[in-house]
Amino acid sequence: MRRVARGLVLLAALLVAAASAAALRDRGPREYHETLYVFGTLVEVVIYGESEADAQAASAELGREFGRLHHAWHAWRPGMLTSLNEAIAAGHSYSVDNELAGLLEQGQALSCASGGLFDPGIGALVGLWGFHADTPPVGPPPSRAEIDRIMDRHPGIADLRIEGRAVSSSNPAVRLDLGAYAKGAALDRAAALLKARGIDSAVLNAGGGVQVLGRHGDRPWRVAIRDPFEWGAVAAVSLAPGEVLHSSGNYERYLEHDGQRLSHILDPRTGYPVRDIVSASVLDRNGARADAAATALSVAGPGLWPVVARRMGIETALLIDASGQVFATPAMAARLEAVAGELPPIRIVELPENRASDDCVLPAAAS
Ligand code: ADP
Ligand code: MG
Repeated sequence: MRRVARGLVLLAALLVAAASAAALRDRGPREYHETLYVFGTLVEVVIYGESEADAQAASAELGREFGRLHHAWHAWRPGMLTSLNEAIAAGHSYSVDNELAGLLEQGQALSCASGGLFDPGIGALVGLWGFHADTPPVGPPPSRAEIDRIMDRHPGIADLRIEGRAVSSSNPAVRLDLGAYAKGAALDRAAALLKARGIDSAVLNAGGGVQVLGRHGDRPWRVAIRDPFEWGAVAAVSLAPGEVLHSSGNYERYLEHDGQRLSHILDPRTGYPVRDIVSASVLDRNGARADAAATALSVAGPGLWPVVARRMGIETALLIDASGQVFATPAMAARLEAVAGELPPIRIVELPENRASDDCVLPAAAS
């Protein structure tokens, strides 16, 4: 929790320009701040240029909406998703709502594009590693045999059949866990909801995911990319209206064992936590895709991530490996701004050519 709070302070420091809230109230458009505790994380809402009453009403609606999605999409607390998981285990079909059916279809497409590195069908593995709990897991990691018991059944979101609202799985070992893209999808919805209310300048920041509407007065909204090793930011990025930035890292949730931090991001090819990449950030215009891609690039690792970014339609990404080396695509490098002093050394990595592929299989090695 302290980490999250510190992250928010950093973001707030970057978001809120020199003027104090009081000065803004007296001289310029109003800036409304509220922190919601939803989706298992703190969500900071900043609404600019609206009356206090309008901003407050919008923020309250966001709180209700996030709460609703959190309940429906939760991986282990009873709700629509857990009901679907129970039906899958029993070999039945289950009727979800249109929203969840659409999210699962999007999940299948993103998973295919990632070559299966992003796979919301591996919930059984996530649970086995102890991440289906509100507090970080303690105790030894699962045994090889326990991991193999799940891996041998090859669960994946590709096994789902989605016909309208009816969802079933050809593989009863599939357990859905939307944790890697639900936050991004929820931010997409929240932004749409604000727009529908006529709000055209806002920021939504949900631990690792930031989505902006419009601009911060006459400036773009500016957000930080966190340093995964210590308190602070690696760089800042100015987001254009409608852009999102999602970061996945091993600093938010992990299992600590024998002095090692085991990431909550698992490699679906091995069943083990990701090691080489400690942070991946993706800038895009779709929250669900950016969130899914940040997870997929973390799994892909140093050799393969450019291929996966290309296949997922991502141009703007930054990764940090366990040694602290920062990698960025040319599009991302062009957007980075120093926070204090200079930017860290950055290795620029060109994305491979866009080769159309209609299967879900990655090349064996980076090309
Ligand atoms: P964060 O929650 O920090 O934004 P991610 O977006 O990377 O992190 O999501 C990680 C979560 O997604 C894990 O807690 C787990 O629930 C789930 N997950 C872990 N590994 C994968 C994977 N390879 N593909 C899809 N979901 C995953
Ligand atoms: Mg993610």
